[in-house]
Amino acid sequence: MKSVESVAFLLLDIGRKLHGFWDAVPAEFQIRETARKDCSCPDMKKKLCLSIVFVLIFSSASFAGKALDIYVIDTEGGKALLLVSPSGQSMLVDAGFPGYNDRDAIRIEEAAKAAGVRKFDFLVVTHYDMDHVNNVPATVARIPADTFMDHGPAVAKDPVTTKAVAAYLDAAAKAKRVVLKPGDKVPLKGLDVLVVTSAGNVIHSPVKGAGFPNPFCSSTPSKSVDTSENSQSVGLLYTFGKFRMLDLADLTWNKELELMCPNNPIGAVDLLMVSHHGYDASNSQALIHALHPLVTIMNNGLRKFGAAVVLKTIQSSPGLQAAYQLHWSENAPADNPPDEFIANLWDSPDGKWIKVSVEPSGKFTVTNARTGISKNYK
Ligand SMILES: [Zn+2]
Repeated sequence: MKSVESVAFLLLDIGRKLHGFWDAVPAEFQIRETARKDCSCPDMKKKLCLSIVFVLIFSSASFAGKALDIYVIDTEGGKALLLVSPSGQSMLVDAGFPGYNDRDAIRIEEAAKAAGVRKFDFLVVTHYDMDHVNNVPATVARIPADTFMDHGPAVAKDPVTTKAVAAYLDAAAKAKRVVLKPGDKVPLKGLDVLVVTSAGNVIHSPVKGAGFPNPFCSSTPSKSVDTSENSQSVGLLYTFGKFRMLDLADLTWNKELELMCPNNPIGAVDLLMVSHHGYDASNSQALIHALHPLVTIMNNGLRKFGAAVVLKTIQSSPGLQAAYQLHWSENAPADNPPDEFIANLWDSPDGKWIKVSVEPSGKFTVTNARTGISKNYK
């Protein structure tokens, strides 16, 4: 029995060292030392101790083997992104459009069910435009959220936005609400989520290993000043092991330049969520080319954005391996990628998502739910 115990503890030690698992174990379950002591007791207790040890070993292995899953949900030109961390915690970023018989809330619920998510630990509202915030109440009526996060007071003062923000704050008042500013982290267990833009502000310190001059700034002129809600978007940088993903929601052109020029504080990313549904009021070369993404995913609709000039900027980005779109774009018939990279074709039923599964090694798989075909990157 002694040798079995030794092997168990040895395996636990190896599991902890290999997977960094021990830090993720709540203190009350960190029984290694006490178990070692208590296991010098009668048989029944010894068996219980060993069971706990083996559960920890196998939990360690399964935690380490799990991927980060990201569902880019089709809301016909709105935004809804579901992330499920290997820790089991989840986060929804925006909730698509309201109405259409609860179309987008139903689609979000379907993705959540597929991911085994019964509540969102965090729900981030990037800004207060209709395709991002208005559907939050209908969505949380189906799947509740523990903590709501946003950029703070609305800059848009029109009656439609004011009403939508009031309804959102009503929903948030039943849970916890946090206002995000650049430099904050979303405390999603198992994943590093850094706020890089919020309420028109950008991070000023580069992330580790970044901060070099951006060669694309000099050839990227600014555009007219945008004072809309888009310019307030919460932008998030995700790091999971060696994988990095940037999602700036609908952040507009001049704010991109504020963030990315003259020095690039982000560095390179593996996956870029194309901003603003592929609208050319966003998506400068100084953003996309400087980030050097391997893969991009665009949350456009059939007729909502997916602008030809943006598709061209993406396709000419150095090092790009694949550009995915939620929809074939009627605004750029000659510039769409091959069908295999499009989740919803012009004549196919809508509502297919794109799923990304990421390993800590940085390898990731992108699955087109329309075709069921997965491709590996990195
Ligand atoms: Zn939008």
